[in-house]
Formats: sequence, structure tokens, C-alpha cells
Amino acid sequence: MLSAMTTAPLASSPHRPADYHMHTPLCKHASGAPELYWQTASAQGLQEIAFTDHAPDPTGYDAKYRMEPTQFDEYRRLIAPLQDGRTPPVLFGTEADFYPGVEPYLTDWLPRGNFDLVLGSVHYLGDWGFDDPNNRHKWNDVDIKGAWKAYMDLIVGLTATRLFDVIGHFDLPKKFGHRLRDRDLKDMVQPVLDRVMKAGLAIEINTAGWRKEVAEAYPSPLILSLACERGIPICFGSDAHEPEQVGYRFDDAVRLAREVGYTHSLMFRQRKPESVPLP
Ligand code: ZN
Ligand code: FE
Ligand code: FE
Ligand code: ZN
Repeated sequence: MLSAMTTAPLASSPHRPADYHMHTPLCKHASGAPELYWQTASAQGLQEIAFTDHAPDPTGYDAKYRMEPTQFDEYRRLIAPLQDGRTPPVLFGTEADFYPGVEPYLTDWLPRGNFDLVLGSVHYLGDWGFDDPNNRHKWNDVDIKGAWKAYMDLIVGLTATRLFDVIGHFDLPKKFGHRLRDRDLKDMVQPVLDRVMKAGLAIEINTAGWRKEVAEAYPSPLILSLACERGIPICFGSDAHEPEQVGYRFDDAVRLAREVGYTHSLMFRQRKPESVPLP
């Protein structure tokens, strides 16, 4: 009977949100063909995915962890064949670093990329790549609260540019377990979140944190609840650097979002956000 058959959901029907943060081998520290990332997304029932590989930088900034500027067309050619009307759909994005001085370049370059969404991330404090495991030892030499403050000042700078759609891994300094006390964290991030809200920026729930020493998604439940209070929209990202990581712990991420009060997340097309109910 047709009616009986239609009561079961299709195996391929999306029941998990879009994954808007994943990389390609062009960044020199990810592996696996984009097609394989898509296959995981399809098997996981994700709404859609966006590739957001690390943006190239003509100054040689962090060159060992990103594509060369001359490889950008190759990046486009790598993703374009996946944009063939398939389900789940595949979007084209980038994770662009914010650092002081990058603004003129990104102001020129980002609009020409024809992206569906642009993540803005901070991975450096001065010349210290603070989330790079190779530079982890430097955490022993710094004042942890001072490092967090310097990081949050950069997030304020990122926010002020209005160049980005979504802030990546909002509390990245905790990656190796260097946390602040809740009270200090709250005092520090509230004014930052006020600015994020006024700028109309979204933040991502980035599940990669569950794969790191800190064993907690970015941002923490505390920060996420403060973001929700302010009506700051969210989306989801696995930050996959291997095909198997696509959609990583998305059920936990949705549960976390709901627990702090979220009912919707964002979907993007051509950098235009649309709010959709959580699955
Ligand atoms: Zn990466
Ligand atoms: Fe990042
Ligand atoms: Fe990333
Ligand atoms: Zn990342």
C-alpha cells in the first residue's frame, strides 16, 4: 500500500542541520576528496554542506596551512563539479583569517570569490599561531587571561570589519584546556557579544572542540547561552579535515543549541542568511 510506504521517512531525508565548515587537501593539512566529504554528509542526513577552505593570503601569512593564491581557481574547480543539483547541496565558502592589516586585501578579494558564506577566524596572536599544536608550549609562557583578552580584542576587530558572515570557533583559546573561570569569561565576552549582535554576525557551533583536549564544542554552553540571550544567530560546523569528520556529533550540537534556548539556525546562499527551524 502506497500510504503505508510513505509513513517511513526516506533514508536520504535530511534530519541533521547543514555543516558549514570543512576543508580540502589544498590547505596542506586536510585529506580526502571533496566527493568523500559529501558522501559522509549524505549518509548522515545533513541538510547541506559548505566547503570553507582556509583563504589564501598574498603576504605569505600562515602559508604552510593554506592554499597558494594561485591555487584559488583550483579550489573552485574542485568544488564546482559537486554543485550539480545533488542532495544534499554543496555550497562554496571560505574560512578567512582576521588579523590587523588584512582588511584592505579581504575587502577586495572576498566579493570576487562569489562565496555562499564566509567564516571569519582568528588563529594568531601577533606571530603566535596559538592553536597550532607545534606552538602549544608557548601557552606555558604567557598570562592566560592576557592571551584570551588579546584574542577577544581581535574578535572585536573582526566584527568591526563587517566582512564576514559567521565567526569561527568563537572561544578557540580553550583548545588545549587553557580555560578562564566562568566569571572572568563572562565579563570578557559579554561586551564582545554585544558588538557581534549589533553587527548582525552569526557564530557557529563548531564540534571540532569535542575532538580536542578541551573536549567541548566551540563555543562553551555559557557563551552560547549569552549569545542566545542576545539573539545572535547560529549555524553548525564540524571543521572536518577528513571525510569521516563531516557532521561530527551534530546530534549533540543540536541538543546543546536547544538546551540554551535556540530554536532556529541559519542557512546561506550567496551570503544571504535565512533562518530555519532546527531539525
Ligand atoms: Zn584547518
Ligand atoms: Fe579555524
Ligand atoms: Fe576550519
Ligand atoms: Zn577552523
